[in-house]
Amino acid sequence: MRICVVGTGYVGLVTGTCFAENGHTVFCVDVDQAKIDGLKENKLPIYEPGLEDLVSGNQQIGRLNFTTDLAGAMDQAEVVFIAVGTPQADDGSANLKYVWAVADAIRDNAKDSKVVVIKSTVPVGTNEGLMERLNSGPIQHYGASNPEFLREGLAVEDCLNPERIVVGVRDQHTEDTLRELYAPYTSIGVSLLVMGPESSEMTKYTANCLLACRISFMNEMANLCEQVGADVTQVREGIGMDSRIGPKFLNPGAGYGGSCFPKDTRALMSLARDNGVELRILPQVDNVNEVQKQLFFEKLSDTIGHDLNGVTVAIWGLAFKPQTDDIREAPALLTIQNLLEAGATVRVYDPEATENVRSIFGDQITYCEDMYGALDDAAALAILTEWEQFERPDFNEIQKRLQSPVIVDGRNMYEPREMERLGFTYNSIGRQPVRPAVVAGQTVE
Ligand code: NAD
Repeated sequence: MRICVVGTGYVGLVTGTCFAENGHTVFCVDVDQAKIDGLKENKLPIYEPGLEDLVSGNQQIGRLNFTTDLAGAMDQAEVVFIAVGTPQADDGSANLKYVWAVADAIRDNAKDSKVVVIKSTVPVGTNEGLMERLNSGPIQHYGASNPEFLREGLAVEDCLNPERIVVGVRDQHTEDTLRELYAPYTSIGVSLLVMGPESSEMTKYTANCLLACRISFMNEMANLCEQVGADVTQVREGIGMDSRIGPKFLNPGAGYGGSCFPKDTRALMSLARDNGVELRILPQVDNVNEVQKQLFFEKLSDTIGHDLNGVTVAIWGLAFKPQTDDIREAPALLTIQNLLEAGATVRVYDPEATENVRSIFGDQITYCEDMYGALDDAAALAILTEWEQFERPDFNEIQKRLQSPVIVDGRNMYEPREMERLGFTYNSIGRQPVRPAVVAGQTVE
């Protein structure tokens, strides 16, 4: 099939590329000329494992095309996906201005009837609004909802191996078109769930909000574990093996971030308010998360144990999670902000997200190209993203570089007992802090 994907960000670029990989001809459209120019030369605007090879391979054989010309791209496509951003508005609702701009452009430029599919995460009722806008023009179009469930960092894998595909449709033609589009998946057994657009839109929010809820719940349990002498890692294992619960999304930490959970929980609250429904759990999920980010800073400052003014602190991990350069609502941002306000000097390292953080903090902090270099003269190391390269570091090198062997770990990367043996002061989430069992500065085995 011939597909136009409007919005070439994390979702549009990955889904468009995967459609091309599945044999469709894809035109990815964006208003950002620099992004499109870069993509034409296989320069990716985001970091996502495995994506670069797929973009260059499919571009080379002409199945994947990048353009800023929506009208021209639409001329060649039967299906148009809308994958633009739906950021949070001031009142917490989803700001749909980009979605509506694309809908209006489709109505004003399409020369024939299209199946227009919203892939962006949008509140219930958006699909109905889309149909009204599209069909206020001379041509009657078809509309569908098809939310995206990919995870940043695993986006290509998720997109090529979806656990299920959800489509919200109102008519047979649209359903048939989407069934044909997704035939490469359904033919190997992936379920395609067909429902009304309202249920499809609601499915996406319910999924993200439930996942956010699990994380906030575990963060509260972790905070309680610290006070009662329990170890949340053991508790997590104990409950994760219960098939009614399952092991995923039970990791406590320094709070969730990213482009989805924070804004989607708030957008769902806003939708509920608009519909006169009082949601009681969700506001607390959001609230617990904001507090958890702040608690991490307090843990850091308590562990250092004195006024932070003039103190150097090293941070490993800036992205909101590993395998991405996305820093939207990342806990590291608040930690850096708090440290700067307290008068600390901040040295940071992240394998992929440095440039994005530089665009926020400029020369207020020091960006290091080497994870150990970030530690020089620091009073403590704070860990905020669980990148694989932090899993088994050279602890001798860490001790040599840090002023004092102090690690505050927002991602529970190490074993407290082992850290104690190695001579670290180590404070993590939901576990008891430890202090050195050997004299600081002594070589560790
Ligand atoms: P993004 O900010 O990375 O990308 C959006 C892109 O749309 C940008 O490149 C922007 O230039 C472009 N754009 C804006 N207006 C445009 C227009 N009129 N015409 C063409 N292009 C335009 O956003 P994203 O992270 O890809 O998210 C997109 C949507 O998908 C959001 O609704 C988000 O909630 C949802 N979603 C995101 C993820 C994720 O992990 N990032 C996962 C599932 C769903």
